[in-house]
Amino acid sequence: MQSHFFRIAVLGGDGIGPEVTASALEVLDAVGGRLTGVTLVFNEFPAGAGEYLRSGNPLPAATMEACRSADATLLGAMGLPGVRWPGGTEISPQLDLREELDLFAGVRPIHLYNAAHTPLKGYQESGIDLVIFRENTEGLFATRKNAWARDAEEVSDRLVVTRHGAGRIVRAAFQEARRRRKFVTLVDKANVLPSMAFFRMVFDEVAAGFPDVGAERTYVDAAALYLVQKPDRFDVMVMENLFGDILSDLAAGVTGGMGMAPSADLGEKHAVFQPAHGSAPDIAGKGIANPIAAILSAAMMLEWLPGAETTRGAHMIRRAVQQVCASPAHRTADLGGALTTRQMTDRILEAL
Ligand code: ATP
Repeated sequence: MQSHFFRIAVLGGDGIGPEVTASALEVLDAVGGRLTGVTLVFNEFPAGAGEYLRSGNPLPAATMEACRSADATLLGAMGLPGVRWPGGTEISPQLDLREELDLFAGVRPIHLYNAAHTPLKGYQESGIDLVIFRENTEGLFATRKNAWARDAEEVSDRLVVTRHGAGRIVRAAFQEARRRRKFVTLVDKANVLPSMAFFRMVFDEVAAGFPDVGAERTYVDAAALYLVQKPDRFDVMVMENLFGDILSDLAAGVTGGMGMAPSADLGEKHAVFQPAHGSAPDIAGKGIANPIAAILSAAMMLEWLPGAETTRGAHMIRRAVQQVCASPAHRTADLGGALTTRQMTDRILEAL
């Protein structure tokens, strides 16, 4: 059998980031040890709001370089509420990483692991299963670094949609749909914004090349409604950056909250895997964060790395999470239970 040696850059970051990343690393160690011909080597690097306070740079050049040269990056969470750039915006090196490494696809799977996790009525385990493809490099985040003056009479942001940017995220969504239930929903605001009418035109062009995949177009306001009323109607959803930011939190909410939502930021050459949640400063340091989102992000990383063995490792992790979540006793505080981060991690390690 072919042997694979993978170097993983690890950026724990701020708040609960290092706590949940530690859990993900324990799980990866346990799984990695059972994969034939696979060696995972982890190297940790500083980044985040804490690093900004320490050194003045939230994403040091050495960290950036390590992510560029690694086979994949595992990230915890970044940003702290009180730590901001002089202009007032949050320190968010994870956004810089996405732009620097051209990680155009924000992939956010939403899966219901236990009926008790959803606030919605009538959904059984696996009854909600969709994936959001968020465009990560343009949209309404395109001019996020613009300076603004406190005495200004007007401040504006620009929503940028390019043919290249829209085309590649839509293609990625259709390719993913072919591996799933073959249905893609475009989420936009094409009835109001010209940039979105353009996005829809590009979507239609790409959709024509995937005649075997169903395609529908919805406005973002209706999509928010349907995600709450009937989330099982969705398979793959594709959308602009800010819409993806908002709807992925909403979708996470219907399957148990941020502690259950993994994510991957994928480009042509690089990939960063991190839970969809932020640094959760309200619970940081208490040992009660739900590590499942980080652990499932590690599974996404294994699946993305080449080779059948790493894919097997990803399935092992998902099966263990599934098995643990099947019991109502296995819930952290965010899911209404009492397990600590340590205890939840141990349950998953046992299930492995
Ligand atoms: P960001 O803007 O960086 O994504 P945010 O401001 O949206 O972050 P989060 O840090 O994601 O906020 O936290 C939102 C809420 O979800 C908080 O109440 C937080 O405690 C909770 N939360 C987030 N992650 C977890 C987790 N892993 N376990 C338990 N609760 C979590």
